[in-house]
Amino acid sequence: MSHLPELRRQLLMDRWPADRLARWQGEQLREAIRHAWARIPAYRDHLEEAGLGPDDIRGLEDIARIPPLDKAKLRRAGPNRYVATDADRTALRSHQTSGSTGTPMEVFMDPAEHSRRAITMLRTVFRLGLIPPRRTLHVGYGRARKFSRLMRRWHSQCTLDEAVATIRDRRPDVLNSMPSTYVNLVRNWVRSGESRPRIRALVSLGEMLTDPVRDHLHDFFRAPIYNIYGANEVGYLAHPCARSPLLHLRYRDLWIEAVRDGVPVPDETEGEALVTCFPARAMPLIRYQLGDRIVITREPCPCGWRGASIRRIEGRTLELLHHADGHVVTGRMSRWIKSMTPEAARSVIQCRIIEEALGHIRVQVVLHGEGADRVPEETKAHFTAHLGAHRVEVERLEVIPPDPNGKIRPIISKVSQRETEEAGHLA
Ligand SMILES: [Zn+2]
Repeated sequence: MSHLPELRRQLLMDRWPADRLARWQGEQLREAIRHAWARIPAYRDHLEEAGLGPDDIRGLEDIARIPPLDKAKLRRAGPNRYVATDADRTALRSHQTSGSTGTPMEVFMDPAEHSRRAITMLRTVFRLGLIPPRRTLHVGYGRARKFSRLMRRWHSQCTLDEAVATIRDRRPDVLNSMPSTYVNLVRNWVRSGESRPRIRALVSLGEMLTDPVRDHLHDFFRAPIYNIYGANEVGYLAHPCARSPLLHLRYRDLWIEAVRDGVPVPDETEGEALVTCFPARAMPLIRYQLGDRIVITREPCPCGWRGASIRRIEGRTLELLHHADGHVVTGRMSRWIKSMTPEAARSVIQCRIIEEALGHIRVQVVLHGEGADRVPEETKAHFTAHLGAHRVEVERLEVIPPDPNGKIRPIISKVSQRETEEAGHLA
């Protein structure tokens, strides 16, 4: 399918004056609510619980009346109640969220939404100059990435174990990977005794890039690090600036808020991140909780951007787990969920993995429905096979107690902190 009409739409919209954009966004929100009310049972329930009807939201000025929606609620409802009843199921694409904010969920998008995300992504890499003739090496992604024939000229991939030799031999300009993989790569590199690689830029995605890890990677690679902030539910959320550490909120189809108790907080104040994606119809996201805490700023940027930006993303921690032998493994929740039988996987409403020590994993789960009884056994089997764990405890809870900041960190490694600090001293 051609993405050209979508490219044209986005480019034209970029030129709209502020008042036209605000009017359009208001109309879109109103439309999205009416659509959700009529065709998405889960949303209708959600709105009804808040005492809202389809015509109560007149525009952006009313957005704070809509209660934030979390993933657990959608998961509990199931795809039959959170995908639009009028969506052409044969045309939908679906994939699992990474589970970095908790339990994975199946996400659906129609062709128009797929196009919107593809163009947003393409425009982002263009703006950052991460385009041919620059060659990009993708490092350590579990599933082999599929590149089109055209892309294959400029993009290649390798596993973490191959990375030192591949970078030395192929000399890519850009690396694309996740923070935990970069930490491992630096460690392998230092151990290899090779001289420092010349990399022009690092693209970091998939996990939160904490300041210590950013500094650590910057010290080693001496290259700019572009932190892509995205979510599987919605694609790219903000555009990393090449001139400052700010993430510009320049994607006009999205409305990003920082809130406390559902109410937007003032700029420069930390709040819970919510996203509204105006055009998504198959699976609308309206004030959807991303699971991160962010600080929004309107500080003018040296690059010329005068709109809102995200100054900081907090809360998502570097998700590292360890194999019993000590090497670092990306702690993707989805890997565990995918290892289970579908009935068991569907029963997991909320979960948290706690790495108490090397080889000792404690899993807290909130289970619901059929398949729940199978979870403990399948969980033990997974962590024994995947991490070589010799002790796996599964705690079945009514609710997962949040951290002192009110957030549930899905993966807590008591080993990671020390590990990251040690890695910092190696470079
Ligand atoms: Zn900027």
